[in-house]
Amino acid sequence: MKVLVIEDEPRMSQLLRRGLTEEGHTVDTCDSAARATESVRYADYDVIILDWGLPDADGITLLRTWRAEGLATPVLMLTARGSSGEKVLALRTGADDFLVKPFDFEELIARLEALHRRASAGRPAPRRWATCSFSERAGSSSGRPARSSSPAGSFSC
Ligand code: CA
Repeated sequence: MKVLVIEDEPRMSQLLRRGLTEEGHTVDTCDSAARATESVRYADYDVIILDWGLPDADGITLLRTWRAEGLATPVLMLTARGSSGEKVLALRTGADDFLVKPFDFEELIARLEALHRRASAGRPAPRRWATCSFSERAGSSSGRPARSSSPAGSFSC
């Protein structure tokens, strides 16, 4: 996955970059809302990790702007606080998932992968289907081709 990490705390940002890179992902980082907006306009990401508190804007405002502009990339929000009101606000603003710091890194990875999987499933003509084939069921007793509306055969991938 190509991941954009928007986080102004250098330690957290480095931790995320290192951990995600070790998992085999490509990571870009930025530490402000202005740089983040530049990044999402000029590059395509599979998922975005967005910190709620940034020095020049809050993550919610940023996310609201991006969604209004039509950005569809899955976004996982990070925050130090974690009231249910905040979670609801984040999700209603367009976040796809939410994690409260400190979080378990394995859980973060699993959530990012789930977001990516769901987003990929919604795209037309997924590449992974290209290797699947449909075989007609052999050995019909009448010898006629099946004419029923249900598929008479099986997919193999
Ligand atoms: Ca922050």
